[in-house]
Amino acid sequence: MSDRPTSRNRIVIVGGGLSGLVAAHRIHTQTAKSADPVDLVLLEAKDRVGGAIWTEHVDGFLLEGGADSFITNKPAALNLCKELGLGDQLIGPDATNRRSFVVRNGKLLPVPEGFVLMAPRKLGPIITTPILSFRGKLRMLMDLIRPRRNDDADESLASFVKRRLGREALERLVQPLVGGIYTADPNELSVKATLPQFVEMERKYGGLIRGAFAEMKKTKNADRTASGARYGLFASLIDGMETLPRALAASLPPGTIRTNSPVRRVSRSDTGGWLVEPLDGPPIEATGVILATEAHASARMVDALDPELALHLRSIPYASSAIVIATYKRDQVSHPLDGFGVVVPTIENRRILAISFTSVKFPGRAPKDSVILRIFVGGATQPELFDLDNGAIEALACSEASQLLGITGPPIFTRVSRHPRAMPQYTLGHLDRVATIRTRAALHPNLVLAGNAFDGVGIPDIVKSAQTVADDLLASLVVPAVV
Ligand SMILES: Cc1cc2nc3c(=O)[nH]c(=O)nc-3n(C[C@H](O)[C@H](O)[C@H](O)COP(=O)(O)OP(=O)(O)OC[C@H]3O[C@@H](n4cnc5c(N)ncnc54)[C@H](O)[C@@H]3O)c2cc1C
Repeated sequence: MSDRPTSRNRIVIVGGGLSGLVAAHRIHTQTAKSADPVDLVLLEAKDRVGGAIWTEHVDGFLLEGGADSFITNKPAALNLCKELGLGDQLIGPDATNRRSFVVRNGKLLPVPEGFVLMAPRKLGPIITTPILSFRGKLRMLMDLIRPRRNDDADESLASFVKRRLGREALERLVQPLVGGIYTADPNELSVKATLPQFVEMERKYGGLIRGAFAEMKKTKNADRTASGARYGLFASLIDGMETLPRALAASLPPGTIRTNSPVRRVSRSDTGGWLVEPLDGPPIEATGVILATEAHASARMVDALDPELALHLRSIPYASSAIVIATYKRDQVSHPLDGFGVVVPTIENRRILAISFTSVKFPGRAPKDSVILRIFVGGATQPELFDLDNGAIEALACSEASQLLGITGPPIFTRVSRHPRAMPQYTLGHLDRVATIRTRAALHPNLVLAGNAFDGVGIPDIVKSAQTVADDLLASLVVPAVV
């Protein structure tokens, strides 16, 4: 990449995770054939693109170190895969064993059939489940008669669930199911920012049970049997999730992406545009800049330009987590592994958040006589565990998995995938915080923010948000091109 002046618009994207790559792809496809093409530069600090998504192939095992699938009822990611020619590589989780477990007094019990994150779509399984006490079940059913909340103020996820379904449902079911997604503390999470569909259910139907039944009626093909995180609605790619960032990178003109190129600062240029300063080369002039990095990383880059914006960006907290990928011979594991995984409630006082039975969820990712487990450690509720070294994290994760699943002997091999400060926590007031950040950022024409800190952490939300950011930037490129 040259930093020579050009008469074309140049957009620099900082961050080569999914957000940055989607934004780059969008700008390229929107402008490549126009009379006014754009020079694109993508700077990534690490030696690879993909950010929180990586896949590794080892001796017949396909290992996912980050995301392993994405939800399909929000179509953006699915459509992007098709646009990139990956349509025939999309796969769904295995049709058998479509359920998950929750730990109760050290034992694995199935999540009641039809229970989706916090809304029961079937009452029978709730009444018969041994996960809840008789009192807990009655309290949960009181959702049918409890009045709806009338004010619009933000509420924590824990408070919302306790109010609607009671403390037991929160502690034994919702906390582990939702905590597994956000690696978060439900006492801190904003329900409006993380799971607004359930707030809407209460507002529209008066409660979660009524809401779940009404929505189910509306959705003709609703799958009544899915439990846990609705695995039936998830998709992945046959060669692993990293296929997506790789395809996005390959769609860009050669030379667009520069890895090992951490950006330290963004400032105004003399010509009214922007100067992006990577550590590995001279400043790059740009007409537009997209910061597609973690909010704390974006804050560092705009510290000198706008300390107030930096302060607001830093106010979005992040959690760190690790995934220990452990492979075993099937006959080492006495549990039948007849589900997609198990989530672990905080009240069980264990040192892991969840275990995904990856090779059951996606058969073919391990040799027939072997299994892959992904064991989640750390998050907002156990931050101290993330600070342990890899050996210690691996030892505690494998020990917990062995106790829960009856595993004998050591794993065949392991990998530890660390995600330091990678998961933004949409805590109480998140929506207001994001609105403030956007208002403040708007003071800087053609400097825009993308990434999972703002509009959702799931892959479809990220794709949609990055596409919108790219479209908005293209529409507002009013500053004269760099000359
Ligand atoms: C462990 C884990 C499991 C997940 N599982 C799922 C799942 O199964 N399904 C799902 O839908 N979602 C999942 N997610 C969420 C989803 O994968 C992420 O939200 C998404 O990949 C984040 O993409 P991003 O580009 O916004 O951020 P990131 O992937 O964090 O990318 C940010 C990039 O910016 C770079 N960067 C930072 N500072 C600088 C700098 N100064 N200069 C240059 N580059 C810089 C970083 O190196 C990084 O590559 C998971 C997330 C994690 C952490």
